Amino acid sequence: MKKYILSDCNLVDVEHGCALLPHRDIYIGGKVIEKIVPHGDAPQGYTVIDASGKFVMPGLINLHVHLFGTGRPSKALGGGKAQQRLLRFVQTAFGKKILGKIVEASAKNQLYSGVTTLRAVGDLFGSDIALKRRIENGKGGAKGLRMFISGMALTAPGGHGAGTFARTASSPEELARMVGEAVSAGADFVKICITGGVMDAKKRGEPGEVKMTEEQVRAVCDRAHALGKKVAAHVQSERGAEIAARCGVDTIEHGAPLSGESLRLLSERNGAQVVTCTPALPNARLPHEATKLNEMAAYNSEVVMRGMIEGARRAMAAGIAVGMGTDSSCPFCTQYNMWREVQWFQKLMDVPVKTALYIATLGNAEILGISDVTGSVREGKSADILLLGKNPLEDLSALRDIDCMFAQGRFIAEPRPKRMPEIERQLDKLTEEL
Ligand SMILES: [Zn+2]
Repeated sequence: MKKYILSDCNLVDVEHGCALLPHRDIYIGGKVIEKIVPHGDAPQGYTVIDASGKFVMPGLINLHVHLFGTGRPSKALGGGKAQQRLLRFVQTAFGKKILGKIVEASAKNQLYSGVTTLRAVGDLFGSDIALKRRIENGKGGAKGLRMFISGMALTAPGGHGAGTFARTASSPEELARMVGEAVSAGADFVKICITGGVMDAKKRGEPGEVKMTEEQVRAVCDRAHALGKKVAAHVQSERGAEIAARCGVDTIEHGAPLSGESLRLLSERNGAQVVTCTPALPNARLPHEATKLNEMAAYNSEVVMRGMIEGARRAMAAGIAVGMGTDSSCPFCTQYNMWREVQWFQKLMDVPVKTALYIATLGNAEILGISDVTGSVREGKSADILLLGKNPLEDLSALRDIDCMFAQGRFIAEPRPKRMPEIERQLDKLTEEL
């Protein structure tokens, strides 16, 4: 591998309050950061990248991704006959190939938008596992991306994702057996869906209906923990959050306010809440014609969003880690908008820009248990690095366009994700209204 120097940059030091360290040279050799020194003459054997006046920060970490879709609103996975046909197709030999290409394109878009590590929380028929192996073998456009994957999610019959990205079973023993299967197949963690969401709510003001029993959730958590794996749970109501906390879930995905007792349990387990503003805001605030949600679903989206934000505020106040992810593949959740999640998180949570930047990098790395490997630009750590033309501490939209980047030492000269202009226009408008 070639060796590089990012020369004379401003370094955003996420380990120390996002302090800006001017005039630094960052030496990159192989997959790691060799050293960081005050700007000086470059020795021979290095390719010098002039970064004067530019900004260096660690690669983003996206904790909540599905790779099977683009984020363009579509009826194909909205249930019914079209969905059944599509799901039958992707299980044929030819369909499998197409699905492989789709998830790889998604992963490449994530990477080229500055995401150097992602956690895929429920994908179709082992496509995430196959992609991860391919990348680890140095193949394809997403080479360099670090992936954590769950394989198919698990839920009870009728639960969130049932019939698409989740397998279902009723008996706790059967669910525990499926955990074993997923781990044997290569899952890094287990994803379950405890509650429903916005689309399947039956009452106005009551989204996130509980779909899994305590016995079912406990059986999954116990087996996963026995196998040394963590459990991430889709939760969109207070009652669901209580079950998650009580039965052993490690990360509450999306989230809702927790009681004092539940906060204590989650904290003891060193658990976390992973906020997803990317699906929440468009569902709640875009016009019905765009989201195709009925009035009740739009109202419930606002309820879910407020609950998630309130929950995350309480978690942070209780010293519990809060992370972020984009829920890519959901309507309006593209594979290249982690930068937008950081911006929306900052505004909706009303936290300093520095806090949002920290969470999107080192904070998320800590939740994954890999903060010794990545999450900050430091000597000896993996070369997961973004070079930005503008200062992200002044304006987070500086993250939208990346000059160049490194992912586990792979240099990407011009990272340009494939964007969908019409969706961008709608999301930009939402940002203006925040
Ligand atoms: Zn999700």
